Amino acid sequence: MSGLKVNFNKSMLVGVNIPDFWLGEAASALCCRVGKIPFLYLGLSIGGDPRHLSFWDPLLARLKNRLSSWKNRFLSFGGRLVLLKSVLTSLPVYALSFFKSPSRKWCWRMLVDRDGLWYRVLAARYGVERGRLGAGGTRGYSWWRAIVSIRDGGGEVGGGWFRGHISKKVGDGVDTCFWTDPWVEGTPLCERFGRLFDLAENKSVSVAEMFLLGWGAGGEALLWRRPLRAWEEEMLGECQTLLLDISLQAHFSDSWSWQSDPVHGYTVCGAYQLLTEQDMAPLDVAAGLIWHTQVPLKVSILAWRLLRDRLPTKANLISRGILPVEDHFCAFGCGAVESAQNVFLSCSSSGSLWSLISSWIGSSLVTAQTLSDDFVQFTISAGGTRVRRSFMQLIWLACVWVVWTERNHRLFRGSADSSLHMLDKIKTFSYRWLKATRSSLALNCHSWWSCLMLCLDFV
Ligand SMILES: [Zn+2]
Repeated sequence: MSGLKVNFNKSMLVGVNIPDFWLGEAASALCCRVGKIPFLYLGLSIGGDPRHLSFWDPLLARLKNRLSSWKNRFLSFGGRLVLLKSVLTSLPVYALSFFKSPSRKWCWRMLVDRDGLWYRVLAARYGVERGRLGAGGTRGYSWWRAIVSIRDGGGEVGGGWFRGHISKKVGDGVDTCFWTDPWVEGTPLCERFGRLFDLAENKSVSVAEMFLLGWGAGGEALLWRRPLRAWEEEMLGECQTLLLDISLQAHFSDSWSWQSDPVHGYTVCGAYQLLTEQDMAPLDVAAGLIWHTQVPLKVSILAWRLLRDRLPTKANLISRGILPVEDHFCAFGCGAVESAQNVFLSCSSSGSLWSLISSWIGSSLVTAQTLSDDFVQFTISAGGTRVRRSFMQLIWLACVWVVWTERNHRLFRGSADSSLHMLDKIKTFSYRWLKATRSSLALNCHSWWSCLMLCLDFV
């Protein structure tokens, strides 16, 4: 025995398919309360339906609660980051670990894996119609209904997403719905020619049947509930032109394909990439480079503020009304307005640092228009392996750190280091950061000093 005892005072008895009077008696015998489904356990609602929005309300309330109790307004940048990374992300992960959302992977499997056990089980239960498993109506398990709704694109946003990336390759046309399957250029005809679909007599006819009857100008395949109007005839003409070149292949059966990877089909990894790559702006690419395991957090945070132009440069302070307009000069003495762009890229004085760095690295650097582009280009400029890119990323972050601290020293301490001095600092910092996390680093300080790329080949 574990030695733990059940505290019946704090416990609840919940009955499933048990008469109320029996439950009440059992509860009073055990000295505990009668509970009802759904109830809260460890902050999560047990027995509720995860597909209803209200199910997630307790979780949202908890998130809000955490935010207000942390008094986040008064936290430092580092503190906010810790709050976000630890508390706020762990709560939903905790909740989702209990309630799995139906997987798109299952949809794909049910479309493709015809010999699999699951497909056969579901086919026996729900039947197969035009090469796809039946939805089962209200008889179906909620799990299967959720998957069907993803497959058919009903309801939620993600479903439309799944449906938008599959298409059907037609062989003999037997397993393909003429109107509702995405077999012509990846779009179902019912979406492309909605009006015609509304008027069609037979909405569930297969491609093979339609082909036999003939879908061309003189064919009998297309029957309508009423005579078509002029503009509907036009639409029909357009539809028939699309179908003109299509011929069926009698010896091949129809198959599904995942549009972005026709060879391997749907994978969770591929779908994740597709979801995250969409509309990726340069800032997002650069933002992904800010966090580096070997770089101190304060440096990453500086870079994060820099890319969003949130550093207290003079230009920013002036626009917020903190500094008078005439007090705008760059701390490095180039005579221009001190903006992030100037200090880190275009300043004629601090800019000489970049040419020193490029000769240390042993490759020429292209100056980019924006800071985020600069970061991305710098990181990939060494080309090659992931290790190399990670090094370049670290060097860029070191540069940004050194330039900004130098700017602050000039402004507040009145001291001034030369560009060569700043380069030395960058070398020192980057060496120290690398050495701190990788004691096995096969390079000595001297070779690091003279030529960076030589060192990279040792690693
Ligand atoms: Zn300047």
